[in-house]
This record gives sequence, C-alpha cells and structure tokens, in this order.
Amino acid sequence: MSCIYCGTKIDLADSDIIPDALTNAKIINPHVCRVAHNNRFSDMFENEIINDMALITNELDIKSSKGKKYAVYDAKVVVGGTEYKTKLSSDTELFKGSKFMVTEDGKTKLGPLEQVMKIKNATEENVQVVDVNHIEIEKRVIIKTETYFSLAMYRLMTKIAFEWYCLHNGIEDKNDKFEDIINFIVKGEGNNPVTIVGNETVYGLFDQYTNFANHTLLCYIASDNSVNILISLFGIAIYNVRILNEVIEECSCNALFQTLTIDAKREQFYFKNKEELNDNLINSFYNMDFGNGMTVLMPKDMTDMSLQYQMLYLQNYDLFATNLMCVDKPDSVIVHMIIKHIEKLLQESALTIRGLKRFVNEHKEYLERENALNPNGTNKQSIFMFFILYTIGNSNGKISSMKELISYLKQRFSGTEISISDDMSKNLYTEIFKDKDYFEKIKMGALVVDKWEFE
Ligand SMILES: [Zn+2]
Repeated sequence: MSCIYCGTKIDLADSDIIPDALTNAKIINPHVCRVAHNNRFSDMFENEIINDMALITNELDIKSSKGKKYAVYDAKVVVGGTEYKTKLSSDTELFKGSKFMVTEDGKTKLGPLEQVMKIKNATEENVQVVDVNHIEIEKRVIIKTETYFSLAMYRLMTKIAFEWYCLHNGIEDKNDKFEDIINFIVKGEGNNPVTIVGNETVYGLFDQYTNFANHTLLCYIASDNSVNILISLFGIAIYNVRILNEVIEECSCNALFQTLTIDAKREQFYFKNKEELNDNLINSFYNMDFGNGMTVLMPKDMTDMSLQYQMLYLQNYDLFATNLMCVDKPDSVIVHMIIKHIEKLLQESALTIRGLKRFVNEHKEYLERENALNPNGTNKQSIFMFFILYTIGNSNGKISSMKELISYLKQRFSGTEISISDDMSKNLYTEIFKDKDYFEKIKMGALVVDKWEFE
C-alpha cells in the first residue's frame, strides 16, 4: 500500500474522504500518508471551509468527532440599537454565563451586570442597565456565499472526488495520470478542475430523490469523454470535478454513486459503465403475472434501496453528460440560487425530530420561566418552533408523531414549502398570545416532543 498523493509506503492513515466535521457518515480512503497528505490538508483548506460552514453544520446537528461540540459561528447581535459581535453555538447562549459581547470598535461591552461592575473604571455613570427580556434584540448571521466559490472549496471538492474515485477503482499507489489533480489539491496550482452546476433542474432531481441535507457523489462520462464527479454538498451547491480528460485503463469503474444522510445512513452502487448498470437494473426486476392479462414489474430484492438511484442515474444520464450549465465564477444567478438553498436547508432542519428535540433541550431553562417569549427578542425561527410546540400541546394528543405534525403543517400552510416571513411570524406570535393558556400548552408540546422516538 502506498500514498495516492506521493507514493510513500511509510505511515499511511485512514483519510476521511469528507472531513468529519462536515458529515455524520464516515467514508475512508486508507491510502493517504498521515503527515504530509492527511493532517496537512486540514490547515491547507479543510479548516477554512469547516469554519465558514459552521452555521450549517451546527443547525444540522453535525459534531466533529474531535470536539463532540456544536460548531461555533460568528453572529452580530443588535441589542437596543447597538451592534455587538459574538460567537454562538445556539440562540439560547446569547445571554448565558459570564460571556461578554463587544462592539466592532471595541468601545462598548455587554455582559451580566455583576461582571461588568468588576471591570476597572466601571462606574454608575458609564454603565447602562438593559433588560434583555423586554428590549429589542436582533440576531444577524452572515452567510458568506464567497465560501462556495473559494479556492479552498475547490481544493476540498477535488480532494473528495479524487480519494473517492481512487477508492472505488482500486487505485492504491501514486498514478502519474492524476498529476494535475494532485497538484491542484496539494499546492492549489494549475487548472481548476471544479465548476458549479447552474441547472436548477439538477438540484431539483437530487432534492427529490435523496434525503434531506445529504452529501451525494456521482461519477459519469461527459460527451467529450472526460471523467467527472458530481458532489452535492448538503444540496446547497453541486460541484462538478473533472477528474480525468478520458477514461484510463487503470480505472474501469465509472458508473459510481453514493449518498450519505445526516443520520449516517448510506446508499450506493458501483458499476463499470452505464451499460453494465442498465443490464443489472433489468435483471433486478421480474414480471409478476396477475393472471388477468396484467403484469407488473417487481423488484427481485425488495430491500435493495439503491434501485431508485440506479434509475435516477440512467434516466438523467444525458442531463449530467451534456446539460449541467456549469459556471466557475460567481454570478448573481448562481449566488441567488445558493442563498435560496441555504435558507431552505435552515428552515427544513428545524422540522426534523432532531431539530425539534434540540430546540426543546436548549430551551429547557427558558420553559421553566414565563417570559420565554420576548416579543422584541425572539427570532422568526424560534417563534415558528414555539408555535409548533404550542400546536402540539394544543392538539390534545391528536398530533403524536412527526408524520402527523408534518401533515398538519402542510394543511395549515397549504403547501410543502413553508417560508417563514416577517408577516407570518407576526401572525403566529399573535395567535399564540391570544390563548391565555399558551405557556402551559407550549410546555405540554415540549414534553410530547421529548418523548418522541427517532425514526
Ligand atoms: Zn503522501
């Protein structure tokens, strides 16, 4: 065994193909040397992306195995008209502990009164008391879209594609045909092999067929015979990595697919080419004769969940090979698309058992007190979550599972996509407060969610 980057046989390590801070599902390539090409990639480009995506991984409940903690992200908090910088890993942390927030110019600090009074030169004249339960509070999180077009991201995508492709083609040593790719990953030099898919239809397909917030990898041969790998990063952006200009004899497997969910589940298939995949797919079904002239195609193995992905792959092969509409530089259309995907992801993450349980868990302390809902300080997302708990509590046991909740919400908001606008959040707020027993009902809802089992 040798390192696929440098050929050394000394001190090889299991490389996480996707950095573990970005996924709950480990996939490993064991042919990477420990120091020069496994550890150093973290500093070269992986950590930059991990930091920039902290808000996303935090919301999706992905914890790095190293820290076992939620990722911390940068936020700006406006309290009574003054803007402070802070680092957060949850909304409820805002005014917890002895933490201080500082304004951009460093001149004003916000913290618990007893801590503030300990600061040298603090007097009653230069200290102002604010009541965070009633004052207007706004949290702003900055989503850096340039991350998705950064050199670090392109290098990371190339690294993922390269290690995954080698793994499924039995490449266990350095191969000169990948020299350009290796150079780009290791040094960030040479032609950038990465572009971003601009065709929204492709995003729609991935969204429809795969699980929420997954990573999906897919290898195909383009119409110019180049070998390419598509990587869907949480469904936010789909990258196309041109890994080889043509099929090489050492790598005969080019119809590859793998999808990884945030619950660490995975589905995959690996075939030489689409013809072999096609043959396999045909042989995976049989004709069931109903005796009245009607026959139905039935899968031979009902447990083979990869069949739907095999169909997705074959039916859309031409789309992948010829019509991805890839771009390599950010333009307003693709930036807008990425923002839309991030917003959708953040909203939908709340509506999972994970998301609800985490919300309940983090608000346990708040639920002990009556003033959990500060009309000026609760963000849209939290109001929506409180509304959900209220709804569950108010249903008298009628909503007793995630499935029933989703079906209620679909009815209530007439559609599959729930967009939390300012108006909607105001209306929900009014609706909750009209009920004089609202707080008991929220608490009841929290108790119910606490008992729900993961699916
Ligand atoms: Zn190496």
